[in-house]
Amino acid sequence: MSEDRTKKIREKNYHTPPSDDFKDVLISTGSIVAECSYCERVYFCNPKFTSFEYDIDEYENYLKSAKEEPDKYIEVFEDGISCGWIDNVEGPLNCKCNIFGRYELFLVNERDKIITFFKNTVVKEFEKAKKSKELFEELSGEKLTSNRRRVILVKDKGKGKFRQIENRSRIYGEQKNGKERV
Ligand SMILES: [Zn+2]
Repeated sequence: MSEDRTKKIREKNYHTPPSDDFKDVLISTGSIVAECSYCERVYFCNPKFTSFEYDIDEYENYLKSAKEEPDKYIEVFEDGISCGWIDNVEGPLNCKCNIFGRYELFLVNERDKIITFFKNTVVKEFEKAKKSKELFEELSGEKLTSNRRRVILVKDKGKGKFRQIENRSRIYGEQKNGKERV
């Protein structure tokens, strides 16, 4: 692929807005005025389109700011501004800087690495938990089972081997202690 074409595709992807599915997981609030914490653009609703109410002169002040800095203060002709949050970035989901679209692109493009990373982390955590379990069983002589039954290891007389005894009394409140497991 030519460098130019790669650059064009990158540029296009960079500006692809977040999908509705991604917005659904990010969405936190709706507001009459919202600032993007990433690029500091401020969006404000036209009062004719919104059911929210402005403080006195608030709208006029935003309008004035929009005339002075049209790329920073942006009037929106909708009822409210949907905002979301990810990685300490908070703001309008459709902000011009497209920060949320870029986060989505990153997650989608790098999903294989992310999945591998989580898989490796889980495997490590599992190994750690397995070692803790083995240590606990060795020290306590009690076998931990996944179905929450407590199994006690007892030494068979003379044989020197461990035998599993299920202690059902703790779970089921039975009177009989140490029922042998089949
Ligand atoms: Zn922004």
